[in-house]
Amino acid sequence: MMERILLNVFLVILPIILLPVITSNNIDRYLKIRTKYIFFAGLLTSFACMIFTIKINNAISFDFQFIPQLYASLFLGPVFSIFFVLITMGLKLLLEGHGLLFAAVLSGFHIVLSIVYSKKFNNSTSDQRIFAFTVIHIVTGVFAFLYLYITTDVHHSFELVLWFFAQAFAAFIVIFFSEYIRSNLLLYRKIISTEKLDIVSQLAASISHEVRNPLTTVRGFLQLLSKMDNNEKSKEYIHISIDELDRAEAIIRDYLSFAKPSENKVTTLDINKEFKRIIDIMKPLANQYNVLIDATLQKDLFVIGEQQSFQQCFINIIKNSIEAMDKGGTLSISTTVKSDRIIIKIHDNGIGMTKQQLERIGEPYYSTKGSKGTGLGMMVVFKIVASMEGRIDINSELGKGTEIVTSFPLQKSKSAVREVPIGEGDPEIC
Ligand code: ADP
Ligand code: MG
Repeated sequence: MMERILLNVFLVILPIILLPVITSNNIDRYLKIRTKYIFFAGLLTSFACMIFTIKINNAISFDFQFIPQLYASLFLGPVFSIFFVLITMGLKLLLEGHGLLFAAVLSGFHIVLSIVYSKKFNNSTSDQRIFAFTVIHIVTGVFAFLYLYITTDVHHSFELVLWFFAQAFAAFIVIFFSEYIRSNLLLYRKIISTEKLDIVSQLAASISHEVRNPLTTVRGFLQLLSKMDNNEKSKEYIHISIDELDRAEAIIRDYLSFAKPSENKVTTLDINKEFKRIIDIMKPLANQYNVLIDATLQKDLFVIGEQQSFQQCFINIIKNSIEAMDKGGTLSISTTVKSDRIIIKIHDNGIGMTKQQLERIGEPYYSTKGSKGTGLGMMVVFKIVASMEGRIDINSELGKGTEIVTSFPLQKSKSAVREVPIGEGDPEIC
């Protein structure tokens, strides 16, 4: 019996530990095959568990088939859960057939769980998932234990207890390893992205005004040419050239704002004032996109930071929000205070993002805007927010919109507020 239990534990863990090998530690590859893998590897495991069942006597036997079944039901949702249950029940019928009633009841319970709980389960934190998955197994284990204890004559208490603990333990190991491997895959991608970030920083340092200056000169001459030349075709070409130059300029600006040490001093910033200025800067772009800016700004909120960086950060966020609403919409900005932190919410009803997009946001060069995007804006945002001891939280739903919530430690006194003259250090739209 002991060997069989160990074999069952091994069988349910095997697909999980094989995952990093199969996906070569690549989270994108994992996300691509995730559904198929959970479903088919789960079915195979269930089937193997049924073959290597743990016999207590001729009438009672157990296996761990319900671990992959619950795993698939919770992670993949009701449709997959129903198919999974139908297939495993069919196989069970073919194999032996006893314990069918109990299996049917438990499978029904798994389907119900997948309907009511799968969404919440997937949105929970790793720890919550580990806890929930293990507890569900413990609870169903207790029911199975009681059911057998009451309905069968022979009370093999020791074997039952052993099975009960072994199953709970196996369930815990499965979910724990699966979460551990998932977070490792994510970490692996972060490391690669940090390496990319390093290269970006090094590059940024080497791109300086020497590159920007000739660009400005060329732009000026092109403008002159366009005024002198009356040929429509040349005008059009010059116009395209200027647009392309502006794009090159924008990329350099994004680089520089990311890597160059800021000359701006850290001061106490009046959030209300800063946002009025940011909104002024962004209004022309909003108008171009038919976007209405609706700002609810609480008065007398102060935060410590560099004025230019602060403005740059929110300009980048707001610019993305406006660009996400190419058919027009409303951009809501609100500032409030909650437990000694200033909460700044920027909400748009634009195109939104998928889960995968959301996971990649802020990665250098990650952009869905093709040649129009630089993929550096959000990276700059994350850097600025972190440097101000801030936190950022992004909620987005495809087709519905995006809400970006940033929070910073509240600065109580107004005494340190210093006016920084508006001028050279103005943020730029990028
Ligand atoms: P860029 O704007 O140059 O593409 P960013 O770093 O600013 O680069 O943004 C990265 C990507 O994140 C965008 O290409 C877009 O897909 C996504 N994104 C950012 N903000 C939003 C938003 N408010 N709504 C929808 N998608 C967004
Ligand atoms: Mg952007």
